Amino acid sequence: MKKIFSLIYISIFIIGCQSNELPENQIEVDSLSIVDTIEIAPSYTVLNQKVGRNETFSDILTKYNVPVKKILQIAEVAKDTFDVRKIQQNKEYVIYLNEDSLKSISKIEYTVNPLESIIFDLQDTINVYRSRKPIKSVERQTSGVISGSLYETLQKNNISIILALKLSQVLAWQVDFYKVRQGDKFKVIYDELSVDDQIIDIGRIKAVYFKHWNQDYYGFYFQSGDVEDYFDEKGNSLRKAFLKSPLKFGRLASRFSKSRLHPILKYYRPHLGTDYAAPTGTPILSIGDGMVTERGYTKSAGNYVKIKHNGAYTTSYLHMSKFAKATSKGSRVKQGQVIGYVGSTGLATGPHVHLNFYQNGKAVDHLRVKFPSVKPIDSNLKDQYMSHMNILMNRLAVIPLGEDSVYSKTESVELTTNP
Ligand SMILES: [Zn+2]
Repeated sequence: MKKIFSLIYISIFIIGCQSNELPENQIEVDSLSIVDTIEIAPSYTVLNQKVGRNETFSDILTKYNVPVKKILQIAEVAKDTFDVRKIQQNKEYVIYLNEDSLKSISKIEYTVNPLESIIFDLQDTINVYRSRKPIKSVERQTSGVISGSLYETLQKNNISIILALKLSQVLAWQVDFYKVRQGDKFKVIYDELSVDDQIIDIGRIKAVYFKHWNQDYYGFYFQSGDVEDYFDEKGNSLRKAFLKSPLKFGRLASRFSKSRLHPILKYYRPHLGTDYAAPTGTPILSIGDGMVTERGYTKSAGNYVKIKHNGAYTTSYLHMSKFAKATSKGSRVKQGQVIGYVGSTGLATGPHVHLNFYQNGKAVDHLRVKFPSVKPIDSNLKDQYMSHMNILMNRLAVIPLGEDSVYSKTESVELTTNP
Protein backbone atom coordinates (compact mmCIF):
# COMPACT_ATOMS: atom_id res chain seq x y z
CA MET A 1 0.00 0.00 0.00
CA LYS A 2 2.83 2.30 0.92
CA LYS A 3 4.35 1.54 -2.48
CA ILE A 4 1.15 2.60 -4.22
CA PHE A 5 1.08 5.88 -2.38
CA SER A 6 4.66 6.63 -3.18
CA LEU A 7 3.87 5.94 -6.83
CA ILE A 8 0.96 8.33 -6.63
CA TYR A 9 3.16 10.84 -4.89
CA ILE A 10 5.81 10.56 -7.60
CA SER A 11 3.29 11.09 -10.38
CA ILE A 12 1.79 14.05 -8.58
CA PHE A 13 5.21 15.47 -8.04
CA ILE A 14 6.02 15.15 -11.73
CA ILE A 15 2.73 16.71 -12.74
CA GLY A 16 3.33 19.41 -10.15
CA CYS A 17 6.71 20.22 -11.63
CA GLN A 18 5.28 20.38 -15.10
CA SER A 19 2.56 22.83 -14.15
CA ASN A 20 5.16 24.92 -12.44
CA GLU A 21 6.91 25.39 -15.75
CA LEU A 22 3.97 27.36 -17.04
CA PRO A 23 5.19 30.89 -17.47
CA GLU A 24 2.06 32.50 -16.09
CA ASN A 25 0.96 31.57 -12.63
CA GLN A 26 -1.46 34.38 -12.26
CA ILE A 27 -4.97 34.03 -13.58
CA GLU A 28 -7.43 36.88 -13.58
CA VAL A 29 -10.96 35.74 -12.84
CA ASP A 30 -13.37 38.32 -14.10
CA SER A 31 -17.07 37.90 -14.00
CA LEU A 32 -18.02 41.43 -15.01
CA SER A 33 -18.52 40.36 -18.57
CA ILE A 34 -21.93 39.05 -17.55
CA VAL A 35 -24.12 42.06 -18.04
CA ASP A 36 -27.41 42.73 -16.28
CA THR A 37 -26.95 40.45 -13.32
CA ILE A 38 -28.09 41.92 -10.07
CA GLU A 39 -25.46 40.16 -8.01
CA ILE A 40 -22.02 40.75 -9.25
CA ALA A 41 -19.79 37.82 -8.33
CA PRO A 42 -16.61 38.94 -6.64
CA SER A 43 -13.54 39.25 -8.74
CA TYR A 44 -10.24 37.88 -7.46
CA THR A 45 -6.66 37.68 -8.38
CA VAL A 46 -5.76 34.01 -8.11
CA LEU A 47 -2.20 33.05 -7.25
CA ASN A 48 -1.03 29.43 -7.50
CA GLN A 49 1.86 28.91 -5.12
CA LYS A 50 3.99 26.28 -3.46
CA VAL A 51 5.24 26.24 0.11
CA GLY A 52 8.91 27.15 0.06
CA ARG A 53 11.76 25.66 2.04
CA ASN A 54 11.38 26.33 5.78
CA GLU A 55 8.41 28.55 5.02
CA THR A 56 5.77 28.78 7.74
CA PHE A 57 2.10 29.61 7.55
CA SER A 58 2.90 32.89 9.19
CA ASP A 59 5.65 33.67 6.63
CA ILE A 60 3.15 33.18 3.83
CA LEU A 61 0.48 35.44 5.32
CA THR A 62 3.01 38.10 6.26
CA LYS A 63 3.93 38.35 2.57
CA TYR A 64 0.35 39.50 1.94
CA ASN A 65 0.38 42.01 4.78
CA VAL A 66 -1.80 40.05 7.17
CA PRO A 67 -1.14 41.43 10.66
CA VAL A 68 0.36 39.07 13.24
CA LYS A 69 -2.72 39.37 15.42
CA LYS A 70 -4.93 38.10 12.62
CA ILE A 71 -2.51 35.28 11.79
CA LEU A 72 -2.79 34.07 15.39
CA GLN A 73 -6.59 34.30 15.17
CA ILE A 74 -6.61 32.22 11.98
CA ALA A 75 -4.36 29.59 13.54
CA GLU A 76 -6.67 29.45 16.56
CA VAL A 77 -9.82 29.03 14.44
CA ALA A 78 -8.07 26.43 12.27
CA LYS A 79 -6.85 24.43 15.29
CA ASP A 80 -9.59 21.77 15.28
CA THR A 81 -9.51 21.38 11.50
CA PHE A 82 -5.86 21.73 10.65
CA ASP A 83 -2.67 22.46 12.53
CA VAL A 84 -1.07 25.27 10.54
CA ARG A 85 2.37 24.23 11.81
CA LYS A 86 1.98 21.15 9.67
CA ILE A 87 2.13 22.84 6.31
CA GLN A 88 4.78 21.15 4.20
CA GLN A 89 7.39 22.25 1.75
CA ASN A 90 6.36 21.91 -1.91
CA LYS A 91 2.65 21.56 -1.13
CA GLU A 92 0.49 23.67 -3.38
CA TYR A 93 -1.77 26.44 -2.21
CA VAL A 94 -3.93 28.99 -3.94
CA ILE A 95 -4.31 32.57 -2.74
CA TYR A 96 -7.40 34.56 -3.70
CA LEU A 97 -6.77 38.31 -3.43
CA ASN A 98 -9.58 40.83 -3.36
CA GLU A 99 -9.59 43.23 -6.26
CA ASP A 100 -9.59 46.18 -3.89
CA SER A 101 -6.88 48.73 -3.43
CA LEU A 102 -5.42 46.79 -0.50
CA LYS A 103 -5.27 43.50 -2.41
CA SER A 104 -6.28 41.82 0.84
CA ILE A 105 -6.53 38.04 1.08
CA SER A 106 -10.03 36.70 0.67
CA LYS A 107 -9.29 32.99 0.74
CA ILE A 108 -6.45 30.46 0.89
CA GLU A 109 -6.82 26.93 -0.37
CA TYR A 110 -4.05 24.63 0.88
CA THR A 111 -3.80 21.25 -0.86
CA VAL A 112 -3.21 18.45 1.64
CA ASN A 113 -3.35 15.70 -0.98
CA PRO A 114 -5.08 15.26 -4.34
CA LEU A 115 -8.32 14.47 -2.53
CA GLU A 116 -8.35 17.07 0.14
CA SER A 117 -7.65 20.71 0.75
CA ILE A 118 -8.06 23.14 3.63
CA ILE A 119 -9.99 26.31 2.93
CA PHE A 120 -9.14 29.39 4.99
CA ASP A 121 -12.00 31.78 4.30
CA LEU A 122 -10.91 35.19 5.58
CA GLN A 123 -13.59 37.27 3.91
CA ASP A 124 -15.70 38.32 6.87
CA THR A 125 -15.46 36.15 9.93
CA ILE A 126 -12.61 33.66 9.77
CA ASN A 127 -13.82 30.25 8.71
CA VAL A 128 -11.61 27.20 8.20
CA TYR A 129 -12.87 23.92 6.75
CA ARG A 130 -11.80 20.83 4.86
CA SER A 131 -12.88 20.43 1.28
CA ARG A 132 -12.96 16.98 -0.26
CA LYS A 133 -12.99 16.48 -3.96
CA PRO A 134 -15.27 13.95 -5.60
CA ILE A 135 -13.61 10.78 -6.85
CA LYS A 136 -14.54 9.84 -10.36
CA SER A 137 -14.79 6.12 -10.90
CA VAL A 138 -14.50 4.96 -14.48
CA GLU A 139 -14.92 1.35 -15.45
CA ARG A 140 -12.28 0.33 -17.93
CA GLN A 141 -11.59 -2.67 -20.06
CA THR A 142 -7.94 -3.12 -20.80
CA SER A 143 -6.12 -5.87 -22.62
CA GLY A 144 -2.56 -6.37 -23.71
CA VAL A 145 0.13 -8.67 -24.96
CA ILE A 146 3.24 -8.49 -22.86
CA SER A 147 6.40 -7.21 -24.42
CA GLY A 148 9.16 -6.76 -21.88
CA SER A 149 7.60 -6.65 -18.43
CA LEU A 150 3.99 -6.05 -17.47
CA TYR A 151 5.04 -2.73 -15.95
CA GLU A 152 6.69 -1.62 -19.18
CA THR A 153 3.72 -2.72 -21.26
CA LEU A 154 1.32 -0.78 -19.04
CA GLN A 155 3.54 2.27 -18.87
CA LYS A 156 4.06 2.37 -22.60
CA ASN A 157 0.32 2.49 -23.03
CA ASN A 158 -0.45 5.02 -20.33
CA ILE A 159 -2.18 2.57 -18.05
CA SER A 160 -1.59 3.10 -14.33
CA ILE A 161 1.06 0.68 -13.12
CA ILE A 162 -0.96 0.35 -9.93
CA LEU A 163 -3.03 -2.02 -12.07
CA ALA A 164 -0.05 -4.39 -12.17
CA LEU A 165 0.20 -4.33 -8.38
CA LYS A 166 -3.51 -5.03 -8.00
CA LEU A 167 -3.41 -7.84 -10.55
CA SER A 168 -0.48 -9.41 -8.74
CA GLN A 169 -2.60 -9.50 -5.57
CA VAL A 170 -5.63 -11.08 -7.25
CA LEU A 171 -3.59 -13.64 -9.22
CA ALA A 172 -0.84 -14.23 -6.66
CA TRP A 173 -1.26 -18.02 -6.91
CA GLN A 174 -1.71 -18.22 -10.67
CA VAL A 175 0.82 -15.86 -12.17
CA ASP A 176 4.41 -15.28 -11.18
CA PHE A 177 4.65 -11.61 -11.96
CA TYR A 178 8.43 -11.79 -11.90
CA LYS A 179 8.26 -14.41 -14.61
CA VAL A 180 5.69 -12.78 -16.88
CA ARG A 181 7.15 -13.28 -20.32
CA GLN A 182 6.86 -12.11 -23.87
CA GLY A 183 3.59 -13.29 -25.35
CA ASP A 184 1.70 -13.55 -22.06
CA LYS A 185 -1.68 -11.90 -22.51
CA PHE A 186 -4.22 -10.27 -20.27
CA LYS A 187 -7.69 -8.79 -20.29
CA VAL A 188 -9.09 -6.97 -17.32
CA ILE A 189 -12.25 -5.12 -16.33
CA TYR A 190 -11.66 -2.72 -13.46
CA ASP A 191 -12.47 0.66 -11.97
CA GLU A 192 -10.07 3.51 -12.36
CA LEU A 193 -10.33 6.27 -9.77
CA SER A 194 -9.44 9.83 -10.54
CA VAL A 195 -9.64 13.28 -9.03
CA ASP A 196 -9.49 16.30 -11.31
CA ASP A 197 -8.75 13.93 -14.20
CA GLN A 198 -5.67 12.70 -12.43
CA ILE A 199 -5.64 8.95 -11.79
CA ILE A 200 -5.17 8.39 -8.09
CA ASP A 201 -5.80 4.68 -7.75
CA ILE A 202 -7.18 1.53 -9.26
CA GLY A 203 -10.48 0.56 -7.67
CA ARG A 204 -11.87 -2.92 -7.82
CA ILE A 205 -10.68 -5.45 -10.35
CA LYS A 206 -13.96 -7.05 -11.44
CA ALA A 207 -12.76 -9.67 -13.87
CA VAL A 208 -9.41 -10.77 -15.20
CA TYR A 209 -8.10 -13.18 -17.76
CA PHE A 210 -4.37 -13.92 -17.86
CA LYS A 211 -2.57 -16.25 -20.21
CA HIS A 212 0.69 -17.12 -18.47
CA TRP A 213 3.15 -19.72 -19.77
CA ASN A 214 0.39 -20.99 -22.11
CA GLN A 215 -2.11 -21.55 -19.33
CA ASP A 216 -5.40 -19.66 -19.09
CA TYR A 217 -6.33 -18.17 -15.73
CA TYR A 218 -9.55 -16.38 -14.80
CA GLY A 219 -10.53 -14.41 -11.74
CA PHE A 220 -13.93 -12.91 -10.93
CA TYR A 221 -14.83 -10.69 -8.03
CA PHE A 222 -17.98 -11.79 -6.25
CA GLN A 223 -19.80 -10.40 -3.25
CA SER A 224 -22.91 -11.75 -1.58
CA GLY A 225 -23.70 -11.47 2.11
CA ASP A 226 -20.54 -12.24 4.03
CA VAL A 227 -18.79 -13.67 0.98
CA GLU A 228 -16.44 -11.28 -0.75
CA ASP A 229 -13.68 -12.87 -2.75
CA TYR A 230 -12.22 -13.83 -6.12
CA PHE A 231 -13.12 -17.14 -7.71
CA ASP A 232 -12.23 -18.83 -10.97
CA GLU A 233 -14.52 -19.92 -13.80
CA LYS A 234 -15.52 -23.04 -11.87
CA GLY A 235 -16.17 -21.26 -8.60
CA ASN A 236 -12.93 -22.30 -6.93
CA SER A 237 -11.05 -19.87 -4.73
CA LEU A 238 -8.07 -18.26 -6.45
CA ARG A 239 -6.04 -19.08 -3.36
CA LYS A 240 -4.48 -22.49 -2.89
CA ALA A 241 -3.94 -24.41 0.31
CA PHE A 242 -0.61 -26.03 1.10
CA LEU A 243 -0.32 -29.70 1.92
CA LYS A 244 0.30 -30.10 5.65
CA SER A 245 3.18 -32.52 5.03
CA PRO A 246 5.65 -33.12 2.19
CA LEU A 247 5.29 -36.87 2.77
CA LYS A 248 2.29 -39.06 2.03
CA PHE A 249 3.25 -41.34 4.89
CA GLY A 250 5.70 -40.17 7.45
CA ARG A 251 6.00 -39.09 11.00
CA LEU A 252 6.26 -35.56 12.32
CA ALA A 253 9.63 -35.84 14.06
CA SER A 254 10.54 -32.36 15.20
CA ARG A 255 8.58 -29.15 15.13
CA PHE A 256 9.59 -25.59 14.45
CA SER A 257 11.29 -24.15 17.53
CA LYS A 258 13.28 -21.04 18.35
CA SER A 259 15.53 -23.12 20.63
CA ARG A 260 16.28 -26.79 20.30
CA LEU A 261 19.15 -29.05 21.30
CA HIS A 262 20.67 -29.94 17.98
CA PRO A 263 20.98 -33.76 17.76
CA ILE A 264 24.42 -33.64 16.11
CA LEU A 265 25.92 -30.33 17.10
CA LYS A 266 24.73 -30.85 20.71
CA TYR A 267 24.02 -27.27 21.46
CA TYR A 268 20.86 -25.21 21.54
CA ARG A 269 20.06 -23.51 18.31
CA PRO A 270 16.82 -22.59 16.66
CA HIS A 271 15.16 -25.21 14.49
CA LEU A 272 13.43 -23.02 11.97
CA GLY A 273 11.68 -25.81 10.13
CA THR A 274 9.74 -29.03 10.56
CA ASP A 275 11.19 -32.53 10.32
CA TYR A 276 9.26 -35.47 8.90
CA ALA A 277 10.88 -38.88 9.31
CA ALA A 278 10.49 -41.71 6.80
CA PRO A 279 12.67 -44.45 5.31
CA THR A 280 15.34 -43.48 2.80
CA GLY A 281 13.88 -43.32 -0.69
CA THR A 282 10.37 -42.24 0.38
CA PRO A 283 9.08 -39.68 -2.19
CA ILE A 284 9.08 -36.03 -1.08
CA LEU A 285 6.19 -33.94 -2.44
CA SER A 286 6.05 -30.24 -3.11
CA ILE A 287 3.43 -28.87 -0.69
CA GLY A 288 2.18 -26.37 -3.30
CA ASP A 289 2.35 -25.31 -6.94
CA GLY A 290 5.41 -23.28 -7.74
CA MET A 291 8.74 -22.97 -9.42
CA VAL A 292 12.11 -24.45 -8.45
CA THR A 293 14.40 -21.54 -7.65
CA GLU A 294 17.32 -23.56 -6.22
CA ARG A 295 18.56 -27.12 -6.37
CA GLY A 296 21.89 -27.97 -4.84
CA TYR A 297 23.97 -29.27 -1.99
CA THR A 298 25.42 -27.71 1.15
CA LYS A 299 27.28 -29.32 4.05
CA SER A 300 24.42 -28.81 6.49
CA ALA A 301 21.34 -29.03 4.23
CA GLY A 302 22.65 -31.87 2.07
CA ASN A 303 20.75 -32.18 -1.20
CA TYR A 304 17.97 -29.63 -1.18
CA VAL A 305 15.31 -28.11 -3.41
CA LYS A 306 13.81 -24.66 -2.94
CA ILE A 307 10.42 -23.78 -4.42
CA LYS A 308 8.82 -20.37 -4.80
CA HIS A 309 5.02 -20.65 -4.62
CA ASN A 310 4.02 -17.03 -5.09
CA GLY A 311 5.12 -13.54 -4.09
CA ALA A 312 4.81 -14.42 -0.40
CA TYR A 313 5.59 -18.11 0.11
CA THR A 314 8.69 -20.20 -0.48
CA THR A 315 9.56 -23.68 0.81
CA SER A 316 12.73 -25.77 0.87
CA TYR A 317 13.24 -29.49 1.40
CA LEU A 318 16.52 -30.72 2.90
CA HIS A 319 18.61 -33.88 3.35
CA MET A 320 17.38 -35.61 0.15
CA SER A 321 19.06 -38.84 -0.94
CA LYS A 322 18.41 -37.83 -4.54
CA PHE A 323 16.43 -35.40 -6.65
CA ALA A 324 13.41 -36.29 -8.77
CA LYS A 325 13.38 -35.65 -12.50
CA ALA A 326 12.09 -32.31 -13.78
CA THR A 327 13.24 -30.36 -10.73
CA SER A 328 16.09 -28.42 -12.26
CA LYS A 329 16.23 -24.71 -11.54
CA GLY A 330 13.34 -22.93 -13.28
CA SER A 331 11.09 -26.02 -13.49
CA ARG A 332 7.43 -25.60 -12.64
CA VAL A 333 6.10 -28.06 -10.13
CA LYS A 334 2.57 -28.96 -9.12
CA GLN A 335 1.27 -29.50 -5.63
CA GLY A 336 1.91 -33.14 -4.69
CA GLN A 337 4.53 -33.62 -7.39
CA VAL A 338 7.52 -35.74 -6.33
CA ILE A 339 10.57 -33.47 -6.16
CA GLY A 340 13.06 -35.77 -4.44
CA TYR A 341 13.53 -38.69 -2.06
CA VAL A 342 14.11 -38.89 1.70
CA GLY A 343 17.71 -39.28 2.76
CA SER A 344 20.16 -38.16 5.42
CA THR A 345 22.62 -36.06 3.44
CA GLY A 346 24.06 -33.05 5.22
CA LEU A 347 23.70 -32.72 9.00
CA ALA A 348 21.14 -35.43 9.76
CA THR A 349 21.11 -38.28 12.29
CA GLY A 350 18.72 -40.39 10.27
CA PRO A 351 16.57 -40.32 7.15
CA HIS A 352 14.07 -37.42 7.23
CA VAL A 353 13.04 -34.38 5.28
CA HIS A 354 13.46 -30.98 6.87
CA LEU A 355 10.89 -28.52 5.52
CA ASN A 356 11.56 -24.81 5.66
CA PHE A 357 8.58 -22.55 5.10
CA TYR A 358 9.24 -18.89 4.37
CA GLN A 359 6.62 -16.16 4.49
CA ASN A 360 7.89 -12.95 2.92
CA GLY A 361 11.41 -14.24 3.32
CA LYS A 362 11.08 -15.10 7.01
CA ALA A 363 11.11 -18.68 8.28
CA VAL A 364 7.78 -19.43 9.98
CA ASP A 365 6.03 -22.46 11.45
CA HIS A 366 3.66 -23.39 8.61
CA LEU A 367 1.62 -25.56 10.98
CA ARG A 368 0.69 -22.41 12.90
CA VAL A 369 0.18 -19.95 10.05
CA LYS A 370 -3.46 -18.93 9.61
CA PHE A 371 -4.04 -18.92 5.88
CA PRO A 372 -7.03 -17.14 4.32
CA SER A 373 -9.96 -19.24 3.17
CA VAL A 374 -9.42 -21.42 0.12
CA LYS A 375 -12.96 -22.77 0.07
CA PRO A 376 -14.83 -22.81 -3.25
CA ILE A 377 -18.05 -20.83 -3.62
CA ASP A 378 -20.74 -22.05 -1.22
CA SER A 379 -23.20 -24.47 -2.87
CA ASN A 380 -26.18 -22.23 -2.07
CA LEU A 381 -24.47 -19.31 -3.83
CA LYS A 382 -23.19 -21.33 -6.77
CA ASP A 383 -26.07 -20.49 -9.18
CA GLN A 384 -25.88 -16.81 -8.33
CA TYR A 385 -22.11 -16.85 -8.81
CA MET A 386 -22.23 -18.74 -12.12
CA SER A 387 -24.68 -16.31 -13.73
CA HIS A 388 -22.63 -13.35 -12.45
CA MET A 389 -19.46 -15.01 -13.74
CA ASN A 390 -20.96 -15.83 -17.16
CA ILE A 391 -21.84 -12.20 -17.80
CA LEU A 392 -18.27 -11.14 -17.01
CA MET A 393 -16.82 -14.07 -18.95
CA ASN A 394 -18.77 -12.97 -22.05
CA ARG A 395 -17.60 -9.42 -21.57
CA LEU A 396 -13.98 -10.58 -21.34
CA ALA A 397 -14.45 -12.68 -24.47
CA VAL A 398 -15.30 -9.69 -26.65
CA ILE A 399 -12.38 -7.54 -25.49
CA PRO A 400 -9.99 -7.50 -28.44
CA LEU A 401 -6.40 -8.64 -27.99
CA GLY A 402 -4.05 -6.82 -30.29
CA GLU A 403 -0.43 -7.78 -30.71
CA ASP A 404 1.98 -5.65 -28.72
CA SER A 405 -0.64 -3.14 -27.76
CA VAL A 406 -2.99 -2.25 -25.00
CA TYR A 407 -6.61 -1.73 -25.77
CA SER A 408 -8.53 0.43 -23.37
CA LYS A 409 -12.14 1.46 -23.36
CA THR A 410 -14.19 3.51 -20.96
CA GLU A 411 -17.36 1.66 -20.04
CA SER A 412 -19.22 3.80 -17.58
CA VAL A 413 -18.52 6.76 -15.41
CA GLU A 414 -19.67 7.03 -11.86
CA LEU A 415 -19.03 9.79 -9.37
CA THR A 416 -18.45 8.93 -5.78
CA THR A 417 -17.66 11.20 -2.91
CA ASN A 418 -14.51 10.72 -0.99
CA PRO A 419 -15.54 9.16 2.35
ZN1 LIG B 1 15.23 -30.23 10.72
